[in-house]
Amino acid sequence: MANEKIPYKIYLDENEMPKQWYNVRADMKKKPAPLLNPATGKPCTAEDLSHVFCEELVKQELDETTPYIDIPDEIQDFYKMFRPSPLIRAYFLEKKLGTPAKIYYKFEGNNTSGSHKLNSAIAQAYYAKKQGLKGVTTETGAGQWGTALSMACSYFDLDCNVYMVKVSYEQKPFRREVMRTYGANVTPSPSNTTEVGRKILAEFPDTNGSLGCAISEAVEAATSKEGYRYVLGSVLNQVLLHQTVIGLEAKAALDKYNVKPDIIIGCAGGGSNLGGLIAPFVGEKLRGEADYRIIAVEPASCPSLTRGTYAYDYCDTGKICPLQKMYTLGSGFMPSPNHAGGLRYHGMSSILSELYDQGLIEATSVEQTAVFEAAEQFARVEGILPAPESSHAIRAAINEALKCKETGEEKTILFGLTGTGYFDMYAYGAFNDGKMSDYIPTDEEIAKSIANLPKIG
Ligand SMILES: *Cc1c(COP(=O)(O)O)cnc(C)c1O
Repeated sequence: MANEKIPYKIYLDENEMPKQWYNVRADMKKKPAPLLNPATGKPCTAEDLSHVFCEELVKQELDETTPYIDIPDEIQDFYKMFRPSPLIRAYFLEKKLGTPAKIYYKFEGNNTSGSHKLNSAIAQAYYAKKQGLKGVTTETGAGQWGTALSMACSYFDLDCNVYMVKVSYEQKPFRREVMRTYGANVTPSPSNTTEVGRKILAEFPDTNGSLGCAISEAVEAATSKEGYRYVLGSVLNQVLLHQTVIGLEAKAALDKYNVKPDIIIGCAGGGSNLGGLIAPFVGEKLRGEADYRIIAVEPASCPSLTRGTYAYDYCDTGKICPLQKMYTLGSGFMPSPNHAGGLRYHGMSSILSELYDQGLIEATSVEQTAVFEAAEQFARVEGILPAPESSHAIRAAINEALKCKETGEEKTILFGLTGTGYFDMYAYGAFNDGKMSDYIPTDEEIAKSIANLPKIG
């Protein structure tokens, strides 16, 4: 193994890091459907969106023609703190599985936030600062996004207000304290600090909160205060754009050794890491230059691509955000508790939804016990303790590698390892104690929440 030509870790030099993000929409013949203004039902204009989002980010959100967008120097500098991230050849895992498949993973957990979310957080904080804003508001579920945003805001000296889903606020005090250490204000959601929060609390006093609800609160907080805007860690086009540094780096590293992946796999919550990882590969697919099998992996408990409906839906419980056409389980869908907090969103990025609808990517869902089995197997041989979210991708990658073992095919598999799981030890504890259960929503539950989709088109 030691004299294999391909090293364990393929690093890029600093000067080989991407200087532009890649906007995959520019190469899509059929574009994702536009965001709609919930008040008028018409496509959102830059003007509509600029009350909620930073100006430059609105431009990026609506730009479906510019293929490459320059990464400002300040952001490139910040990226150098934790990028390029390593592309690792999973020699140990391959050996353990006894598979002829060649497995690579792009590891995004090498920063304090512990995930890929910092790639977009720093970009969003930069544009907020450049616009002269005082601060930003956001929601966080499991806490990775809030942590990343706190780091980015402290770097640019911006006020950072985080609405944290109540159950996570209580169960993940360590993430909360990391955010506070970076200077963020963290409020458990729903809270009585916003109108929408008070309304939800009046209706569901015992609620544990949800992402959709925390989004509504954060948007209200941003739009009712001078000098603030709302920022979001996934789902939006701009977030997928920033996350393309993952795919661009991965592709540059593989190209150095003339490696072409056959299968590319990523976990999908709102779709940002997967969208970022696959972007340059999908670009080649769209332009007819190459072909790849691409697999989105979601939890069986929140299966928006595999069991959802492709339709316009609300992005938040309070129904104040623009409407987005996406694969969705309905904005009122409350996923049963599971340990992959970052994968519990009811919808999916409109870019990924459209790619999926066009048959350019596939999707699969996995149950959480099987996910933790894969996480444990991976941790024991590859040394990294993966986040539960990331472990969905590991599960699917191992499944594909085991298929290769049966057929003898030497496929090359690339997957995204989005982060580390140090703040998820209760989940690992439940797994180690054999107390983990697999929740799968019934068809009736899904149908019930789909029945409440807004009537459009
Ligand atoms: C947030 C998160 C995800 C899921 O979000 P996407 O936008 O779908 O990428 C996956 N893994 C980790 C570690 C996360 O923090």
